Amino acid sequence: MIKRRKTRKVRLGNLFIGGNAPILIQSMIKVPTSATKRVLSQIKRLEKCGCEAVRLAITGDEDVSSLKKIKKAVKIPLVADIQFHTSLAVKAIAAGADKVRLNPGNMKKKGLKEIAHLAKERGIPLRIGANSGSIDLHPHLSPPPTASFREAKRWGRIEERGIAFSLVSAVNDWLKFFEDTGFFDIIISLKTPEVESTVSAYRMMAKDCNYPFHLGITEAGSGREAIVKSSLGIGILLREGLGDTIRVSLTESPEEEVKVAQEILQSLGIRFFHPEIISCPTCGRCTINLPEIVKEVKKKLIYSPLPTPHSPFKIAIMGCAVNGPGEAKEADIGIAGGKGAGLLFKKGKPIRKIKEGKLAEELLREITKTM
Ligand code: SF4
Repeated sequence: MIKRRKTRKVRLGNLFIGGNAPILIQSMIKVPTSATKRVLSQIKRLEKCGCEAVRLAITGDEDVSSLKKIKKAVKIPLVADIQFHTSLAVKAIAAGADKVRLNPGNMKKKGLKEIAHLAKERGIPLRIGANSGSIDLHPHLSPPPTASFREAKRWGRIEERGIAFSLVSAVNDWLKFFEDTGFFDIIISLKTPEVESTVSAYRMMAKDCNYPFHLGITEAGSGREAIVKSSLGIGILLREGLGDTIRVSLTESPEEEVKVAQEILQSLGIRFFHPEIISCPTCGRCTINLPEIVKEVKKKLIYSPLPTPHSPFKIAIMGCAVNGPGEAKEADIGIAGGKGAGLLFKKGKPIRKIKEGKLAEELLREITKTM
């Protein structure tokens, strides 16, 4: 069981972040907010695949008026992402944003006060984010220009810790600023493109406050590398009980971000979204075409709903008698391959033998009956 860090509970539209609320999955719209129709169709796709809050970049007045229209057309909470211009945050709140994401380091203090007052009045939270790309590294932690290679290497390690330290110190300054204005509905993000410094920063921050955390590895990239990096960074923190909302940043479709986020939460046993398919890697003992069976079952079932919402449902597809019966018994339903056939298991009991050619079809039929 993962013991979650106790945090303040912050309202986001009709949902909550932090406290005992489920860890919320977010993504970001990848077309200009002013392109209202395209945004709405992306939001529909995101809602369908399980996204729970969407962020939109607000870069000017056209985006603000589009945000107003979008807000009227959807139920999912909308997060306005604002950089540099505090006046845009004020307008986005007036247009109906359910939350505003700010990088206070690039904004004027006077405008920030106005945002805090307005957000308080409307009962919406602010995400205060620091990003390693937009903060000054702590001056005492940079290697001197005259450092030898050996010294520079040593400093390199310290500097890595320095990124975390600098992020936490920047956010702490901003927390004090917002708290002094009487604003406390805050969510914190500390972003770097590296696993190590991201994990260090959140661990450090957790000792300083009880605000909920938004987790993510920023600019993670695309494909396999990005998924591994994000899963490690977000996964390590979630396993330690840190993190209340997550966004997987991928240079891919936002739906892909949501699916990876769901996999991270499901792999850690935190939330369950769809059936889990366990299959062996196959080896010289496997005499059935297991990859084909897995492909077929996965195609039909991977994102189908769970028979009992929020409860795990495991399907095991195993190649032979070595680990097959054991895994198949542990799963809700499974097969263990044999010579030209497979043994079907249901709720831990062997049911019947099925010829190899019919394995995928029969397994799917049994699963559908169960679901
Ligand atoms: S279950 Fe059997 S076929 Fe699959 S990897 Fe293990 S030993 Fe090999």
